[in-house]
Amino acid sequence: MKPIYHELEFGITCIDTQHMRQDFVAAYLIENNGRAAFVDTGCYLSVPTLLATLDEKNISRDAVDFVILTHIHLDHAGGAGELIKHLPNANIYVHERGAQHLIDPSKLRAGVISVYGELFFKQFLGDLIPAPENRVNIAKDGDTLNLSGRELRFIDTPGHARHHLCIWDEYSKGIFSGDTLGVSYREFDTEQGCLIFPPTTPIQFDPEAWIETIDKLMTLKPKSAYLTHFNQIEFTQQSANMLKQHINGFTQIANQHKDDTNRHKAIKEALLTYLLKIAYEHGVTFDKAQQIKLFKGDLEICAQGLGVWLDRR
Ligand SMILES: [Zn+2]
Repeated sequence: MKPIYHELEFGITCIDTQHMRQDFVAAYLIENNGRAAFVDTGCYLSVPTLLATLDEKNISRDAVDFVILTHIHLDHAGGAGELIKHLPNANIYVHERGAQHLIDPSKLRAGVISVYGELFFKQFLGDLIPAPENRVNIAKDGDTLNLSGRELRFIDTPGHARHHLCIWDEYSKGIFSGDTLGVSYREFDTEQGCLIFPPTTPIQFDPEAWIETIDKLMTLKPKSAYLTHFNQIEFTQQSANMLKQHINGFTQIANQHKDDTNRHKAIKEALLTYLLKIAYEHGVTFDKAQQIKLFKGDLEICAQGLGVWLDRR
């Protein structure tokens, strides 16, 4: 297994978990004074890549202190139970609403299979291994971890999911943001910067909470966001405004189509039109078919999440 990773500044490595495709799902490795922490793990099938990255960087498995999970969606945390088996000194840190689902993943598994289907689960997510209870720790808003002298601070960040935490790294002035600071594929970078949009994944999308969360994170004056999807971006007030604008854009689409006969299909089509329009306005010029391909997975999930949100209101 040849790992693919990007060495960033401040002892941070963006590991390409190669889930579904390259440049799609990242996990991060933070090194400080000979100790290391993972932020997110990718899914079960990503674990060999994470371990191979440690090997390639000559970091011993017992130098890893923390496996930090931004939230328990499987592209972020599905590998945690398997990974921890290989890291004798590490403990998992997760939101209080997520901890139980790591220890007993049966509900999580059933939930994912109901959204994606059994075939997808087996083929693309692999499996889901329970994490031993004595190695799962709850992290609350304001809690900190000390990675050999480097402080990592947890921030409760509802909006994408209620079990979502972001991690503030004072040293890099960066936020490990999971899905909270949006999705931004490097293919859509132009001279205008990054294109960022919100993953309105089922089942806890909450636009009002999300916008409050973004404003709260901006009070930290971050320089970077370390996105799961995908890699480090410079995160400015303009980025925050773009994300908030598109959260509102997505909810407007949902509202416009709430009474349509085939609501899901209508929302999905409108989201595609919207994303292609914002990509065009952002100066994206590559082949439209390729753009549609890159947006495709998000369209399905975002439309489902918006549907759940409409039903809950
Ligand atoms: Zn998520």
